[in-house]
Amino acid sequence: MADYDVIVIGCGPAGMMACGELAKRGVKVLGIDKKPLLDINIRTASGYCFLDQNFNQENIKMTPKGDKSLLEYTDSGFELTYGDKLEGIYHSYMFSDTKKHWKVTVTDKPFYHIFNPHQCHEDRYKWAKKQGAEFMPATLFRNVEQTPEGVNVKVRRDGQDIYLTAKKLLAADGLTSKVAKVTGKNKDRTDFGMKGPTIEYEVKNVECPYPRGDMFFFGSGNFGGRAGGIIMVPSCHGEGIFRMETMSMLPASTAEDLIEYFTKKGPFSDWFKNSEVIETSGVVIEFLGPMIIPQLDHILFIGDSAAYGECLYQSAVMCGYVGAEKVIKELNGEKGYDEYTEWWADHFDWVRNPKAMADYTKRVMFPRFFTVKELDFLFDKAMENPIILKEAEASPYTFSTMMLESFIALPGVPEDLKERMRQLIDADMAQVASMAGKVQKAS
Ligand SMILES: Cc1cc2nc3c(=O)[nH]c(=O)nc-3n(C[C@H](O)[C@H](O)[C@H](O)COP(=O)(O)OP(=O)(O)OC[C@H]3O[C@@H](n4cnc5c(N)ncnc54)[C@H](O)[C@@H]3O)c2cc1C
Repeated sequence: MADYDVIVIGCGPAGMMACGELAKRGVKVLGIDKKPLLDINIRTASGYCFLDQNFNQENIKMTPKGDKSLLEYTDSGFELTYGDKLEGIYHSYMFSDTKKHWKVTVTDKPFYHIFNPHQCHEDRYKWAKKQGAEFMPATLFRNVEQTPEGVNVKVRRDGQDIYLTAKKLLAADGLTSKVAKVTGKNKDRTDFGMKGPTIEYEVKNVECPYPRGDMFFFGSGNFGGRAGGIIMVPSCHGEGIFRMETMSMLPASTAEDLIEYFTKKGPFSDWFKNSEVIETSGVVIEFLGPMIIPQLDHILFIGDSAAYGECLYQSAVMCGYVGAEKVIKELNGEKGYDEYTEWWADHFDWVRNPKAMADYTKRVMFPRFFTVKELDFLFDKAMENPIILKEAEASPYTFSTMMLESFIALPGVPEDLKERMRQLIDADMAQVASMAGKVQKAS
C-alpha cells in the first residue's frame, strides 16, 4: 500500500493550494519543500496581481472585507481570503539613463493591485494545515521512479535519503523544476537561452518624486556600464517603500553589482541617499517553452514547473486548485490528467500561441530594439504629451503593445521608427529570442 495518495513536490502558490484542496476533499496528501519554513516567502516576487479583469481566462473578483480581501475565482469556481487589503496602482513609468521618462496613467481602474507575498504564503499554509494536509519542510526532492501502481520518490532530509511511495505525484517545484529534469520532461521544450539571476531589495525611505507606480530603469549608464535593468514596484508596506528587482546576467554577483551601482552611484542615486534595505530575496530565472502535455504517467506538472516564464501567484493558485480536482479524478480511474492538459492549453495562451510568449518578453526587451537616441527622442515626446487613459489592459501579455501603440500615436515620430515599432508588435518568439542570443533544446 502506498504511503500517500498524492505527494506534492514544492509548496509554493500552486503546490500549497493543491495540498489544501486535496486534504479538504479527504485525500491523504504530503507536501514536500526544501524551504524550512512554509509560511514565508523567500523567492523574489514583486507582488502585483491582476484583479477584476480577464487574466489567463480567469476573472478574480476582489471584494474588500474589513482589513481582509475576498478573492473569487469566478471561472474556476473557488474563493479564498487574502489576509490584508489590496492597493490599486494607477501609474507606470520607464526611465532611461539620461533621466528622461515615459509615463502612463489610468484614472478609473488600476493597472493592477499589489500584495504581500509573505501574506499569501501564510494564508495558504494555515488554511492547508487546517484542512489536514501533511508537510515535510526542509526536504529536498531528488528523484522519482514510476511503477505500475504509482511513484517511488527519493528525498533528502537532515543528510539522510528517504524513500516514499504515492499513487500520484504533483510536480509543483517551480520554474527550474527538478521533477521535470529527472524525468526527461524538459527534452521537448525550447530553451530560449534567457537564464539569469535576479535579486530583489525591498527598500524604504526612497525619495521618489513621482506618484506611486512601477518603474522600469534601463540603459548602461544606470549600472556603471553593465547590461541589465531594474524594475521597481511600490511595496504594500506603504509610501516611500519599493521592491526593486534586477534583470541581470550570470554569475549571480552581477545582480548585486547592478543594484548597488544604481542606488549608490547611478543618475537616480539621489532618490536613495536616505534609503534602507529592509528585505532581500533572489531567484534564478530560466525561460523554457511551455510543456504542451504537462503529464507523464502518474505525474502532473502544475504551475511554473510547466510554464513559459511564470504563471504568477494568482494563476499558480488556480493551477493548484484545478490540479487537485483532476488528480482526484485520476485516482478514481477517470482521465483527469487529460482534462488538466486541455484546461492548461485553454487557459495559458502561450501553450497554443507562441506569439503570446513573445508579447510577454517584449516589455523587458523593449530598450534593446532601439538606439539610446531614439529612446530619448520618444521619451521627450512622451513627456510633452502625457498619456492619461480611463483604463488600460496592462497584463504582461498586453503591456508592450499598449506601450508601443502609445509611442506610435505621438506627434512627430518619423515613419521608419513607427514602422519598426509595428514590426515589434508583430514579432514572434523566434525574432525576439534571436535578439536575446540563442535558441536551443533544453536538457
Ligand atoms: C523576479 C520575479 C518577480 C515576480 N513577480 C511576481 C509578481 O509580482 N506577482 C506574481 O504574481 N508573480 C510574480 N512572479 C512569479 C511568481 O513568483 C511565480 O509565478 C509563482 O511563484 C509560481 O508558483 P509555483 O507554485 O508554480 O512555483 P514556485 O513559487 O517557484 O514554488 C516552487 C516551490 O518548490 C520548492 N522546490 C523547488 N525545488 C525543490 C526541490 N528540489 N525539492 C523540494 N522543494 C523544491 C521551492 O522551495 C518552492 O517553494 C515573479 C517571479 C520572478 C522570478
